[in-house]
Amino acid sequence: MDLQTLSALHDIFQEVQKQQDWRTALDTLFVSLRDSFIFDNVAIYLEDPQTKGLDVVYARAVGRGKTDEADAAWGESLANDVIVKGMMVLKEPRHVSGKTGRLELAHLLAFPLYIGSNLTGALVFVRFGGPDYSDLHIQIASLQAFWAAALIERRDLQEARTELNSVQRQMRLQDDFVSTISHELRTPLGFIKGYSTSLLREDTEWDEDTRREFLNIIDEEADRLTRLIEDMLESARLQSKTLQFKFSPVRIDSLVRDVATRINMHHPGLKVTFDLEPIPSIRGDGTRLSQVFENLFSNAIKYASNSEVIVSMRYEQNKIRICFTDKGEGIAEDYIPFVFERFYRVPGERTVTGTGLGLYICKQIIMAHHGNIWVESVLGQGATFIIELPVELIL
Ligand code: ADP
Repeated sequence: MDLQTLSALHDIFQEVQKQQDWRTALDTLFVSLRDSFIFDNVAIYLEDPQTKGLDVVYARAVGRGKTDEADAAWGESLANDVIVKGMMVLKEPRHVSGKTGRLELAHLLAFPLYIGSNLTGALVFVRFGGPDYSDLHIQIASLQAFWAAALIERRDLQEARTELNSVQRQMRLQDDFVSTISHELRTPLGFIKGYSTSLLREDTEWDEDTRREFLNIIDEEADRLTRLIEDMLESARLQSKTLQFKFSPVRIDSLVRDVATRINMHHPGLKVTFDLEPIPSIRGDGTRLSQVFENLFSNAIKYASNSEVIVSMRYEQNKIRICFTDKGEGIAEDYIPFVFERFYRVPGERTVTGTGLGLYICKQIIMAHHGNIWVESVLGQGATFIIELPVELIL
């Protein structure tokens, strides 16, 4: 290999190395070496660990024969050959009799791909109609195969790292959840136990008002426990997709108003302002959608106390868009991508109780309606939760 080629290779490899995406890196690798090594198509085959069959993970046509890039059938049997032999295979068509068409005269050059020291794939070049591969071409192609294997290994490592991060985050969330949930269960249980023990004391006489007050507290705390357990069961059913939805025509605007009225009975201080356009009925599960609105209102009460909540509704571009805006503390940008995850709670000093299930449940319910929910927020300036429901559901 002469110095000029070596220096060109060096520049190209630098360029390839810079690419974050493995496909773009492979494109760069193959396209930029076309001046030194001409071919029509290239394809990479990798063994499927389960079926042991070959999958085409990358295919590209760069030459005159710009045939279907995805159809890499021309190289499959040679790829199999290479994997069995564990070495380069060159297949020139000169011994094939009776074939004269350019596409029939396929000059194939294939290399084994060792990914993580295992022979798990093959890279095949094809030149339709020749010429034969020279020694220099074979050397360049072999370098490309080596580099392609490294790029695929890098892809695998990146995927494994992403997967590992997600599993680690999930495990941390589960851990946090166990401590949150034991706290959440203990608090109402503590109240129930404390007040019922007081009522049962034989050495104390309680007047009627105090008795009622204690019983009310016990009643409310028992409701809180029930809600908590329901939320846990529901989130488990939503995750396993076993929760049944009952779809019927619903009027979203009156649904939200009803929920607000119900919430106001318990929290008379909550000010809700409506900004509603006439909205057609949709097909939905009224009970579940009410649950979503209830969660959003009670989050506003918890995380934006004393702020009014503005509920706006629009019917535009074949979608219904419902926004819940509060002027509370909002959510920092870094945490926004996670708030809809199961068990996720924004870290920091905790004065507000919760389980991290509410928004997860909201998201699952909205997705079951083929809609979408997300939050837009600037820390210190409040949060807007936005729900979009598609128009196909409108009767
Ligand atoms: P929980 O309220 O039980 O913690 P959620 O799933 O309802 O769980 O909410 C997840 C997190 O999102 C909360 O812990 C909170 O930090 C944040 N959050 C939800 N609603 C709001 C809001 N309106 N304003 C600010 N932060 C919010």
